[in-house]
Amino acid sequence: DLTNPELESESELAFEGALRPRSLGEFVGQTKVRGQLQLLLTAATMQQRTPDHILLAGPPGLGKTTLAMIVAHEAGRPLRMSSGPAIQHAGDLAAVLSSLVPGEVLFIDEIHRMARSAEEMLYLAMEDFRIDIMVGKGAGATSVPLDLAPFTLVGATTRSGLLPNPLRDRFGFTAHLEFYADSELEQVLERAARLLDLRIDRDAIAEIAGRCRGTPRIANRLLRRVRDYTLVHGRPTDGSEMARADVASVRAALDLYEVDSLGLDRLDRQVMTTMLERFGGGPVGLNTLAVSVGEEAETIEAVVEPFLVRIGLITRTPRGRMATPEGWRHFGLRQPGVGLT
Ligand code: ADP
Repeated sequence: DLTNPELESESELAFEGALRPRSLGEFVGQTKVRGQLQLLLTAATMQQRTPDHILLAGPPGLGKTTLAMIVAHEAGRPLRMSSGPAIQHAGDLAAVLSSLVPGEVLFIDEIHRMARSAEEMLYLAMEDFRIDIMVGKGAGATSVPLDLAPFTLVGATTRSGLLPNPLRDRFGFTAHLEFYADSELEQVLERAARLLDLRIDRDAIAEIAGRCRGTPRIANRLLRRVRDYTLVHGRPTDGSEMARADVASVRAALDLYEVDSLGLDRLDRQVMTTMLERFGGGPVGLNTLAVSVGEEAETIEAVVEPFLVRIGLITRTPRGRMATPEGWRHFGLRQPGVGLT
């Protein structure tokens, strides 16, 4: 699915690696977060200590992994990557923590998916760089304290609200990443086009920016399809090997992959049509909606809803989610009781 903000495949991973900004200076947008991180890193360097633990919160594809890599790079420290789903027992976490080298940056993606028992181990590790390891079983079990090398934890989550308070409180800084403005996405795309050696018109860039769900990952993915399309269908004019991508080729490529004018993905569309057709536009509760589309409430709340609210297709009311007049219009449906006179 071209507009799914989650990472899709191994080949995409390699592609993303090539386009990932390496420094805060190269990282587009998120001005406030960049400034905050810069200050935190500079202060730590001046005092020659490990930077505070950092929590990065926001929908998929907005740059959380990239920022974790940048933090390690800017602080001149090695980086260890892990993820919540990979930490199913306290022992998994103990193995990672006890093998960190001094000053290492530990990135835990989807940190809200970590096992409960590991979470509790992490509290102590974050606070005192120490863990207690259980040795033996049953009545004879004893806990052995183990000192850790000082490290910086960078956690990523699609929703900080899902984290237990004691964990959230142990991060020195929480960055909330926002969807990107069109002008920022244009910068992301221009940079990627340069790296991909793709010549592309300005208005073609703008057309992609408007259809990528405010998400750099999707911007880069759509650019890749436009590049394919231009390679196959474009006609080189000035003796170069590849044609220049223009608005027409962007529209043709994206229409081919059914990316609509707002860049809604399959799940966005499903949520909208369910809300409009089955619930008369709402208000409908989050859980009811989630069950109706067969998706976890967490995903609807963290991934789908923020974007639909941001582009004005739905609103949140005390009684539930409601479609806006714009929501009805985008799906070509008539809002009951409106415009019938
Ligand atoms: P997340 O971890 O939040 O899911 P990633 O950090 O993996 O997102 O970002 C996905 C891709 O989007 C990266 O490979 C990178 O190329 C691109 N990207 C994300 N944020 C930016 C940015 N601010 N500037 C330029 N490219 C970005």
